[in-house]
Amino acid sequence: MELTLSLQEQAFAHEVRAFITGNLPVDIEKKVRLDHHIERDDHMRWQQILGQRGWFTGAWPREHDGHAWTAVQSYIFNTIAGEMNCPELQVFGPSMVGPVIYTYGTPEQKAEHLPKIRDSSVFWCQGYSEPAAGSDLAALSTRADDDGDYYLVNGQKIWTSYAHWADWIFCLVRTSREERNQRGISFLLIDMKTPGIEVQPIRMMDGSHSLNAVFFTNVRVPKHNRIGEEGKGWTYAKFLLEHERVENANLRFITQELLKLRRIASTAKSKSRPLIDDPLFSAKVSAVEAQFKTLEVGVLRLLSNIQAGVPAGAGASSFIKVRGTEIAQRVLELILEATGPDAQPYQPELLFGTGTAELIGPDHSVTPASSYFWRRAMTIYGGSTEIQKNIMAKHVLGL
Ligand SMILES: Cc1cc2nc3c(=O)[nH]c(=O)nc-3n(C[C@H](O)[C@H](O)[C@H](O)COP(=O)(O)OP(=O)(O)OC[C@H]3O[C@@H](n4cnc5c(N)ncnc54)[C@H](O)[C@@H]3O)c2cc1C
Repeated sequence: MELTLSLQEQAFAHEVRAFITGNLPVDIEKKVRLDHHIERDDHMRWQQILGQRGWFTGAWPREHDGHAWTAVQSYIFNTIAGEMNCPELQVFGPSMVGPVIYTYGTPEQKAEHLPKIRDSSVFWCQGYSEPAAGSDLAALSTRADDDGDYYLVNGQKIWTSYAHWADWIFCLVRTSREERNQRGISFLLIDMKTPGIEVQPIRMMDGSHSLNAVFFTNVRVPKHNRIGEEGKGWTYAKFLLEHERVENANLRFITQELLKLRRIASTAKSKSRPLIDDPLFSAKVSAVEAQFKTLEVGVLRLLSNIQAGVPAGAGASSFIKVRGTEIAQRVLELILEATGPDAQPYQPELLFGTGTAELIGPDHSVTPASSYFWRRAMTIYGGSTEIQKNIMAKHVLGL
């Protein structure tokens, strides 16, 4: 985007580029560039490198040892990280539970958890959804019964991303039954090593594994691991979801995929000329690039409001989430189209980096189909598109 950056912002952009050039491990950069699967160790290594610089939580306030990045600085960091093939950051700690802890947590909770989120020594996952509570999250039924200084947690979470990698999970649980479903929900921090927790993998159609079902059987959780007041968990959950949807704008990801699209379309041929010179295809690329620029402006405006103390607002963050999803999916469709028949062979050994199978097609042909299908899920996770449209209808249009 042609933002006019101030001299300080230009210096910051320069600093980010220099840092990534000097510190992003070559093997991780290659995996991201070729869209191969990224393992826990890859994420942690990069996040810990950023953590040493304080950049894993760069947007956190100074009082919590963040750098209080402005909206523009966060934007600069994300888009440069996309351009330079940095892995997606796992946001459960820095952008989700971290802000909840520093906003609503006790001094003990802050002292225990914030440093380990900042240096990325602990991996968090999110335990909200249940088999009968997804869009209608307030219908959740995982129970936390009073047991003296502890809660006894019983129930099941599902679609829990990276629970098999996680050290801790933040969970919504029911501490009482009330007339309004939203009441009686509490927000608990649970150590994944606690006896009674079982993680079952849910495999994807391409063989990959990021989703899980998590079962809780008489899991004893100290009451001091509850965030804020008992029964007020919905307030903290809503605060977190608004942050999550801003993250779901996917600026880093779309920046990276747009560059990939241009690269592929410059090597693929259409009637013996580069596909990118085909006026029809080129118009499709330009259209999605223009949509992305409007999204960037929307995200910047939203982030600036949040920093000025104006709440994101349910309607605005829903809009960002829906547009980010639509644009990312459109870019992946165009990558698939540009790759053409080369995208058809399923090459798991290359996708997961597990074998010595010979590459069929150009090296960018391994992942477009897998990536296209996987990212269809963007329409669902973080709150489905239909639900976001309902929120916008209510909060923006007043319907
Ligand atoms: C890849 C992936 C990762 C995820 N990671 C996590 C995670 O880490 N932690 C976590 O807690 N959850 C996670 N989820 C779960 C996700 O939040 C839920 O899938 C989502 O909220 C939808 O809930 P559901 O699957 O129960 O679908 P349902 O709520 O049953 O919805 C089914 C369909 O009905 C539509 N629908 C439902 N209600 C309405 C309505 N009122 N109006 C109009 N349409 C409606 C929905 O849009 C959807 O199309 C993940 C999901 C996916 C796919």
